[in-house]
Amino acid sequence: MTSARYTGRFAPSPTGPLHFGSLLAAMASYCEARHHDGFWLLRIDDIDPPREVAGASSGIQKTLNAYGFEWDGNVIFQSQRTEFYRDKLTMLNEQHMLYPCNCSRSRLANHSVYPGFCDPATEEPIRTQHSAAKLVQQKILHGDLDHSIRISINESISFHDTVQGFQTYGDGEPGDIIVVRRDDLFAYSLACAVDDADGISHVVRGSDLLSTTASQIAIMKSLNMHQPVYSHIPVALNSKLQKLSKQTRAMALDSMPTLATLLQAWQFLGQVELNVSSIDTFWQSAIETWCLDSVPKQSQQATPI
Ligand code: GLU
Repeated sequence: MTSARYTGRFAPSPTGPLHFGSLLAAMASYCEARHHDGFWLLRIDDIDPPREVAGASSGIQKTLNAYGFEWDGNVIFQSQRTEFYRDKLTMLNEQHMLYPCNCSRSRLANHSVYPGFCDPATEEPIRTQHSAAKLVQQKILHGDLDHSIRISINESISFHDTVQGFQTYGDGEPGDIIVVRRDDLFAYSLACAVDDADGISHVVRGSDLLSTTASQIAIMKSLNMHQPVYSHIPVALNSKLQKLSKQTRAMALDSMPTLATLLQAWQFLGQVELNVSSIDTFWQSAIETWCLDSVPKQSQQATPI
């Protein structure tokens, strides 16, 4: 799918109910898209069954409805796009960009960036690129290999983030990330990169994902795919200055007052005060007055209502 019209998306993982932090990403991506008269898609990132919570996917849709979000078209489920991911991996493998890796967690414990231990280019000649590619293909198609698959990322990556400014990665960063996990599941960055490159013109999401962007761009570039414009908005922190998340037990949006919570998110995003009395009028005014330039860079504490 390619589209000249602004196309944004919200891409929650169904690992639990939406919370205030999720609302910020949903609201910013929605307002940006609608303010530009664009499409807004809902993509459920359900490619990690061990982390999935039963009922979370339908719960997320219900919550978004209750908060007045309206997405375009059918909900996209990553779990239904595995053939697409396999095709893209095969293309990367044909360019000899992938290699199997059997490094243990303990071997990598002191490395924040993968040091290339299993990269055939740095290994003994016996593990030629050709035999690596054969093993990778076997893993992609049949999954019968107790290794993960990494992508070789050698070039430095720079991009302009409309909220966080110019970003550049080099000197070994972002490093060779995993694209297929040892347990055969497709990695988030692979699926997200090829899905976003397949018709999303603008990605607006939390700044906790900023560091994943360089490797996603590297994947898009290697596949000659279109690269969206990125905007990474600040994330909400709790009183211990931890990011609101399921792990830090953030309160579910469902148990919060809808309009007051929308207004709090609006304020968190640095927008001009609105005088509205219903969810409908909130969205009318929000879409009209939304200004991405007013969104602060820094993550901050969100005061509970
Ligand atoms: N599914 C990811 C998450 O919920 C976010 C994906 C994205 O916006 O890139 O953390």
